[in-house]
Amino acid sequence: MKINENFQNLKDSYLFSTIAKKTKGQDVIRLGIGDVTLPLAPSVITALNKAVLEMKDQATFKGYGEEQGYLFLRQAILDYYLEKEVTLTVDEIFVSDGAKSDLGNILDLFSADNTVLIPDPVYPVYVDTNLMAGRKIVYLDGNIDNNFLPLPDDGIKADIIYLCSPNNPTGAVYDKSGLKTWVDYALANDAVILFDSAYEIFVRDEELPTSIYQIDGAKKCAIEFCSLSKTAGFTGTRCGYTVVPRELNRGGFILNDLWLRRQTTKFNGVPYIVQRGAEAVFTSDGLKEIKANINRYRDNAETITKTLSQLGIWYTGGTNAPYIWLKCPGQMTSWEFFDYLLEKEGIVGTPGSGFGANGEGFFRLSAFGNKEDTIKAMEKFKKIF
Ligand code: PLP
Repeated sequence: MKINENFQNLKDSYLFSTIAKKTKGQDVIRLGIGDVTLPLAPSVITALNKAVLEMKDQATFKGYGEEQGYLFLRQAILDYYLEKEVTLTVDEIFVSDGAKSDLGNILDLFSADNTVLIPDPVYPVYVDTNLMAGRKIVYLDGNIDNNFLPLPDDGIKADIIYLCSPNNPTGAVYDKSGLKTWVDYALANDAVILFDSAYEIFVRDEELPTSIYQIDGAKKCAIEFCSLSKTAGFTGTRCGYTVVPRELNRGGFILNDLWLRRQTTKFNGVPYIVQRGAEAVFTSDGLKEIKANINRYRDNAETITKTLSQLGIWYTGGTNAPYIWLKCPGQMTSWEFFDYLLEKEGIVGTPGSGFGANGEGFFRLSAFGNKEDTIKAMEKFKKIF
């Protein structure tokens, strides 16, 4: 019996446990939070309640659900994509229990000897899931010079590429020309892009893409992962969706067929009740309600970005994303700045170094906190800087 020794290659994840330890028992302003704070929308609650009652009667009770998710939800997602001028078919949409599981599980489709290209800094799940599988990872530098939106380097040969836009942690968003460059690179190299659009709802600039399928050629090279976690406050309710276009094939395999086979073997679907709640998100009332919540987070983001602009602190993000990524003042490291803010003013953010080597010297603030706290934190920023 042999253990998967690749687990030895994982770095211990001290980030959030260290933050919890450092702030334990203290009355602090939390701007480090990546979770949502506003409750589910009324339309969602009504739909969830109705679905619970359906489970009471034999006539409406549901057991195992439809393989890729109930058609009513996949149709609602398809219509949501039509609004983005993206045409899909319902068999290209797979309902999931959130983006994180699918981002990890999709790797079942790919050989372990593929090379993976991952921008740095980024959501740590991409790195860890590939380390577990023993894949070779090449990092692509995000930095101030490229506004944390790195483009492909023709000298690098990669098979699997992760892109996250709007980005966690930087809040940076690729424009259409940036994504087109990536799509062209993937097509030229026979690579597959894993596009994480968990924060697409935060994009308000109409010129910016909210789906990679808004770029010509993307259906031949990209899988898209989306989530209702941040869109509709489903972090605890759990529902997302993954799009695997029928046109995407490699090595004689249609990836959509492989993913269906994988999912039907290892996953038994999202609860009916939750899928009814998710369906309600995409109704006109549901969309109105969730957008009202998103606007409240956006107001927080604006409070932060306005203050940083006034203070002349370099930052990116915040306008089309719930995260603001700032340069630590002076030559402070991410953790030095964390300690400074905590000890001096009782403000908690997230050290950028927790998201990759290129995050050192940067700091993530989140717009998911409450309004009063965000305003108070920015008043304190004005005082100390
Ligand atoms: N992708 C990114 C970039 C995230 O930041 C997160 C959560 O913070 C996820 C995916 C996971 O989302 P879910 O709750 O749908 O698993």
